[in-house]
Amino acid sequence: MKGKAFIISGPSGVGKSTILHELFKRREKLYFSISATTRPPRAGEVDGVDYHFIQVERFRRMIGEDAFLEYAEFVGNFYGTPKRYVEDAMERGEDVILDIELQGAIQVHQKMPEAVRIFVLPPSISELERRLRTRGTETDDKIAGRLIRARTEFESAGSYDYIVINDDVEKAVRELDAILTAEHCRAGERSDALSLT
Ligand code: ADP
Ligand code: 5GP
Repeated sequence: MKGKAFIISGPSGVGKSTILHELFKRREKLYFSISATTRPPRAGEVDGVDYHFIQVERFRRMIGEDAFLEYAEFVGNFYGTPKRYVEDAMERGEDVILDIELQGAIQVHQKMPEAVRIFVLPPSISELERRLRTRGTETDDKIAGRLIRARTEFESAGSYDYIVINDDVEKAVRELDAILTAEHCRAGERSDALSLT
């Protein structure tokens, strides 16, 4: 059976990377789509593992070559999903996780309506701000930009298939894991039904 695509969105600092890191320890046949970005690497981020860190000229060239499944601008930088790896992983039967923001999620939904969309929310805006500040990876103005963006993102949470509140990492990972399992059972039931017809 072909793998499924899972889109994980949520405001910057909500804990998407933290939760996904834990999820990958628990599930097999799960592929993380490594995005390309023009944002500079943070301390500890590794090129080719967290992101493909590239220059704007190369990003634009990739747009021209139709190399992205989706791409968007987010608070001053470009981010995009190289499509070849996603397609290959799904063909191999692996589920693919896309950690992407709202505009990208809309583009993927148009191209792959069967992709499952999950929105991660913080327990409150003040906790989101606290997490962004404690992470310590952005300047005050970048944090302000990300918080402004977060307010518009919250309004779209309702258009996603699932909402997970990350008040506790372990609980959020369990919920995400359960969503992936439930979606597999549904896909299995659909293919069983097709084989009976
Ligand atoms: P994102 O990938 O959504 O931008 P991160 O995973 O980098 O967010 O998390 C932002 C910060 O919040 C990190 O310092 C992380 O350790 C912390 N964090 C994540 N989840 C929780 C949680 N449930 N409670 C408290 N802090 C958390
Ligand atoms: P960060 O700079 O904090 O790593 O990511 C900022 C935002 O960009 C997050 O909301 C993250 O989900 C989103 N993002 C990361 N990769 C992609 C991508 O390939 N496409 C889109 N559209 N958004 C992405």
